[in-house]
Amino acid sequence: MIPVNTPLLDGNEKKYLIECVETGWISSEGPFITRFEQDFAAYVQRKHAIAVSNGSVALDAAFLALDLEPGSEVILPSFTIISCAAAIVRAGCVPVAVDADPDTWNIDIAQIESRITAKTRAILVVHIYGLPCDMDPIEALAQKYNLQIVEDAAEMHGQTYRGRRCGSFGAISTFSFYPNKLITTGEGGMVLTDSDELAERCRSLRNLCFTPRRRFVHDELGYNWRMTNIQAALGVAQLERIDFILDRKREIGRRYTELLADIPNVRLPLARTSYADSIYWVYGLVLPPDAPFDATEAMRRLGELGIGTRPFFWPMHEQPALHKLGYLQDQQLPVSEHIARYGFYIPSGLALTNEEIEVVAAAVNKVLRF
Ligand SMILES: *Cc1c(COP(=O)(O)O)cnc(C)c1O
Repeated sequence: MIPVNTPLLDGNEKKYLIECVETGWISSEGPFITRFEQDFAAYVQRKHAIAVSNGSVALDAAFLALDLEPGSEVILPSFTIISCAAAIVRAGCVPVAVDADPDTWNIDIAQIESRITAKTRAILVVHIYGLPCDMDPIEALAQKYNLQIVEDAAEMHGQTYRGRRCGSFGAISTFSFYPNKLITTGEGGMVLTDSDELAERCRSLRNLCFTPRRRFVHDELGYNWRMTNIQAALGVAQLERIDFILDRKREIGRRYTELLADIPNVRLPLARTSYADSIYWVYGLVLPPDAPFDATEAMRRLGELGIGTRPFFWPMHEQPALHKLGYLQDQQLPVSEHIARYGFYIPSGLALTNEEIEVVAAAVNKVLRF
């Protein structure tokens, strides 16, 4: 079986982990935390980085820190992970879902403005699978309507938009370091901002809102969202390898595109736009609506040939958890609905070998020729 993702930990990971064990720094105190935060902030070109336990709580921290008035509407792509809508709802705001662009699978920018109301306060920008969203028109809308931008860059380590790092846009941005992301700490996340106040607020929320006045006296309820020194040790080692990681991800993407180019009708990831080259966080395939089977069946057939796959995200406007709370009901967003049912991705983890790429491509060529 070729798994959909296997992480590559062949830099200084082992050395730094041994350092944690030998020095006894294994909790959220320890030198790797600050080092990872500083290195990552410098890499993304943000003033502050706050390491947290995963990318989902990074979004929670971002929205709680922004402190939008209850009932504020927040625009987000329907085609994303539940963590995005969950953070909006948990911060007392209302998610407003917009359909995807059929080429990039990112939020369809042309549909944003019509969804802005007197209650809209923010746009959650999520860069999906490999290409960043087109930030210039989004920033223009944010300016025109006085909206905050939150940037979920969980899939975009090292990616740039017109030469500027993803994760450096908007009031606050977030990353995930889950093992299938370009940089991993096992579990982990980061919140980044240039604002001293937002950074302070996130640090406080991350650490139970302790007050400097008297330890164990709290003015507010916070969370334990701390990252451990062990996780940060992995992060520091991984970040040292980011240039190699980006090159290799792009190489895997290019190779798949060559090997799969002549399958009729199947949509491959877009290699580039006018503002960025894909980093192929995952290599997604989308079947046409008239395909003789859907993604579930394609994944089953590939599984029989020993190829691991994952389905695409399921749209926010089709989430029972959100419907139950009264959000995003009775909406039709055809692009998101189509790619959720006919899209899936194939192995593209960093430990994938060139031979495995050939094996996967041969299997895809066999299964998707109809
Ligand atoms: C992975 C991911 C997250 C969540 O990160 P976790 O670390 O798994 O909690 C959030 N947003 C996007 C776009 C992601 O891809």
